[in-house]
Amino acid sequence: MTISLTESILQAGRRPDFVDRMKGFYASVDESVAGHRPTCWNHGVCCKFESFGHKLFVTSAELAYFHHGRRDDWRSPTEDRACPYQIDGLCTAREHRPLGCRIFFCDPAAQAWQPDEYESHLKTLKGICLEFGLEYRYQEWLSALQSLEAEFRANGHLDPRIDVEAGL
Ligand code: SF4
Repeated sequence: MTISLTESILQAGRRPDFVDRMKGFYASVDESVAGHRPTCWNHGVCCKFESFGHKLFVTSAELAYFHHGRRDDWRSPTEDRACPYQIDGLCTAREHRPLGCRIFFCDPAAQAWQPDEYESHLKTLKGICLEFGLEYRYQEWLSALQSLEAEFRANGHLDPRIDVEAGL
């Protein structure tokens, strides 16, 4: 039986082994990135996608982990096309932030290692999707938040903040 992305995201989020896998994955990304000693020059300006002029992309596995961790603080994108999780210049979702947020630095020296780091970790994310039965999707971040919320409502989950089956 084929299940919707919403259902598979909910199912993955209920699995402690999935949550542990994603925690471990992000820990290894953070360790690997720290080894390059990158510096943040613009202090969160890059999270204002429209004005900064770039986009963030995420996989289904990242969305599932993000939803699991942030459903009590679910935020819809607003018209300014900035990440809704940046408040007063700070990321309020650091523990669950996607791969791109962990790898992107505007420090020009980062250009030398970013593409390879990103591609290698993206492969791992594809494997995690396969391992946990998540349909692989690679979507622009703000659209992904919007479409996930729309899919939740269309699939009878009235609100992405509420996991009805789990009683949360
Ligand atoms: S999740 Fe955090 S780091 Fe990533 S774009 Fe949003 S505010 Fe910025």
